[in-house]
Amino acid sequence: MEKIQTRIQQLVTDLKRYNQEYFENEQPSISDAAYDKLLRELNDLEAQYPEYRQSDSPTQRVGGTRSEKFAKVVHQHPMQSLSNAFSFGDLVEFERKILSVIDAAEVEYICELKIDGLAISLQYDQSGKLSLGATRGDGSIGEDVSANISTIQTIPHHISITSPLEVRGEVYLSKSQFIQLNHERQLNGEGIFANPRNAAAGSMRQLDADIVAQRKLAMFVYGAPINTYGTFTDDGKHSTFLAEMKKLGLPMNPHSQICKNLTEVRAYIEKWTFERAMLDYEIDGIVIKVNNTGLYEQIGTTAKAPKWAIAYKFPAEEVITKLVDIIFTVGRTGQVTPNAVLEPVQVAGTTVQRATLHNEDYIVARDIRIGDSVVIRKAGEIIPEVVEVVMEKREIDAEAFTMIHTCPTCQSELKRQENEAAYYCLNPNCQSKVIENLIHFASRKAMNIDGLGEKIVEQLYGEGLIKNIPDLYRLEHQIVASLERLGDRSARNLLIAIEDSKQNSLEKLLFGLGIRFVGEKVSSVLAKEYQTMTELRRATAQQLAEIPDIGVRIAQSVEEWFSQEQNCELITDLTQLGVNMDYLGANEAIVENMFLGKTVVLTGTLERLKRTQAKQILEQLGAKVTGTVSKKTDYVVAGSEAGSKLTKALQLGVVVLSEQTLLDIIKEVGLIEEG
Ligand code: NAD
Repeated sequence: MEKIQTRIQQLVTDLKRYNQEYFENEQPSISDAAYDKLLRELNDLEAQYPEYRQSDSPTQRVGGTRSEKFAKVVHQHPMQSLSNAFSFGDLVEFERKILSVIDAAEVEYICELKIDGLAISLQYDQSGKLSLGATRGDGSIGEDVSANISTIQTIPHHISITSPLEVRGEVYLSKSQFIQLNHERQLNGEGIFANPRNAAAGSMRQLDADIVAQRKLAMFVYGAPINTYGTFTDDGKHSTFLAEMKKLGLPMNPHSQICKNLTEVRAYIEKWTFERAMLDYEIDGIVIKVNNTGLYEQIGTTAKAPKWAIAYKFPAEEVITKLVDIIFTVGRTGQVTPNAVLEPVQVAGTTVQRATLHNEDYIVARDIRIGDSVVIRKAGEIIPEVVEVVMEKREIDAEAFTMIHTCPTCQSELKRQENEAAYYCLNPNCQSKVIENLIHFASRKAMNIDGLGEKIVEQLYGEGLIKNIPDLYRLEHQIVASLERLGDRSARNLLIAIEDSKQNSLEKLLFGLGIRFVGEKVSSVLAKEYQTMTELRRATAQQLAEIPDIGVRIAQSVEEWFSQEQNCELITDLTQLGVNMDYLGANEAIVENMFLGKTVVLTGTLERLKRTQAKQILEQLGAKVTGTVSKKTDYVVAGSEAGSKLTKALQLGVVVLSEQTLLDIIKEVGLIEEG
C-alpha cells in the first residue's frame, strides 16, 4: 500500500512540473503521449485507491497557470479541460457512462476537429461590442489578453446581438503561417518555434500587441458556457448553436458533423485521421460531444472536465532512433545551435538524419546524451525534433551533456544574453559568421549575385580573397579566374553579377546587411519610407517605431546597428565602391514568402483560381511548379477531387496546402487585392 501511495505522490509531483513546463514556459520536456500515459496511470490508481487521491491532483484540475504580466479575469463559468480517449473502447466506456443517466433514444453526438492551440474566451457586451478576450489560465482565473485578441483578423469586434454573449474557442497558428514565421525568424537570426501550438501560446502571452498582429493568429469558436445555449438556440442543440454563431460572423470550423451513433463517430475519426494532413492547421484529435445541451446538467461534469464530451487523441507520429552525436553550427548572427546527428530513420514519410536541439536548456531539461535512444517527432509534420530520451535504453557510461563555452569555429568565448536561451559568438571576425553573412548578402532574396553560392564564398574566403562584403566589389578578374573551381567564363559572369548588384534597390541591400530583426518585408517598408540610406541612418528608434509594421524591437535594432562604427564604415566603403544606396521603387524584390525557391505541385480542381493562373502566380512568388510529386516536392496545393498525386504526397509526408492557403499568401505579399 505504501508503495502505491508513494507512486501516486510521485506522479502528482511529476505531472505538476510537466504542466508548468508546458503551459507556463511553453517548453515541455516530455512528449504529449508520454504525459497522457502518466496522467492515465494516475487516474487509474486514484480510481482504485480513492483514499490516496490528493485534492490538488492534476486529474482534478485544469493544468494551466496564469502569468502576473496580465490582469486577472475571473471566469464566471469555469473553463474546463476534456477527458481523453485513446481507443474506440474508451469511447464505448464514455457512452456507457452517459447511458447510465439518460435514455439511449435521446443521445445524438456532434463531432468536431480538436484544434491544437490554446483555449480563449471571448465576451461581447449587450451592444455586441467585443469587450474581453481571456485565456483559460487554471480554469477559474485566466489572463486578460484583449489587446492581443483584437489583432486577430477573423474575430469580429462587433456582432449583432441584444444580450451579452460569451463564447469559447481555440486560438491557433496555421501550418503555413508557422512555416513562414519560422522562416523569417531563421533569416533574422532568432530561435525557431518547435510547433504551431507553442508559437500560438507564446504569441498570446506577448505584451506587445504589434508582435502578436504580425504572427497572424486565427481562431475557431467551438462552444459557450452551458447557460448560453438556451438564449441563442430554439432547440438547445449544440449544432444549432454553431450555426447561429456562424450567422453572427464568428469564425467557425466548417467540419463539424452530427453523428447518430458511435459507428458514425468512428467513421468520422477514420476520415480525419487520414485527411488531417490536408488541413492548414494542426489538429491533435476529435472532440465528441453530446449534441443536446439540455442533457448536460443531468450527465454532469467532474472537477476538471465535462462528462458529456470527450477528446479522442490521434496516436503521435513518433519513432525511436539513436543519437550519434551533437554538433554545433554558428549562424550569421553568431548564434550557436546544437544539432542532433541521428541514425537515419523514417518519420512521417521522410528520412530524418538531423534534428534541432534548439539550445542548452532544451537538452538539459530532457537530459539528452550522446548514445541515447531518442524519440523523434516531426513537429507540425514539418521540423524534426528530439522529444525525449528512452531512459530504459541508456548506456551506463553515457555522459551528461555540457554546453560548449568557446566558439567551435574561432574559439572565442561564447556569451549568453540575458533572457535568452541561446549562446552567441561575439567575435565580428569569426570565420563562420563572416562566411554566413557573405552567403546571405549574395543570396537571391538579398543582393541576388548569381554564381556566388556557398561553395564559392567559402573558396574565395579560404584563399584570402574576401574578408568582408566590400571585398566582393574589389575582386579582380584574374584572381577570381585563378580559383580552381571557376573557369574563365564563369569568373567573368560572376564579376558581371557582382557589378550588376551595385544597381539593386535599397531594400535588397538593407536585407543583405543582415541587421537583426530586419527581414525582407521590414527592409521593404524601411526603404519605401526613407528612400535613401542617409535618411534611414538619421532616424531615431522612436521615429522608426512610429511606422506601421515596425515594432519597438526592430526600431531599436536598426538604431543600434547604425550606431556602430564598423557598420558606418561599411556603408561608406560600399558607397565609394559604387553600390546604390537609394530606393528605386520599380523592380522590387519578390517579398519573402513560403513558396520562394520551393518546388510546388498543383492537383485537383481549384475553385477560385484557374490552373494556369495559379501556376503563374506561384512562379511570380519564386516557386518552381512541376507536374510530379516526389521527395523533392516541398508543397502540394490540392483542390477538390485530388487523386493519386495527393495520395502520393501524403505517403511521402509532403506538406499539403489548400487553395485558400495559396490565396492567403498571395494576399499577404500583395500580389492581388482583397476579395
Ligand atoms: P486538451 O488539450 O487535451 O483538451 C482540452 C482543450 O481542447 C480545450 O480546453 C480546448 O482548448 C481544446 N479544444 C480544441 N478544439 C476543441 C473543440 N472543438 N471543442 C472543445 N475543445 C476543444 O486538454 P488541456 O487540459 O488543454 O491540455 C492537456 C493536454 O496537453 C494533455 O493531454 C497533453 O496532451 C498536453 N500536455 C502536455 C504536457 C507535456 O509535458 N508534454 C504537459 C501538460 C499538458
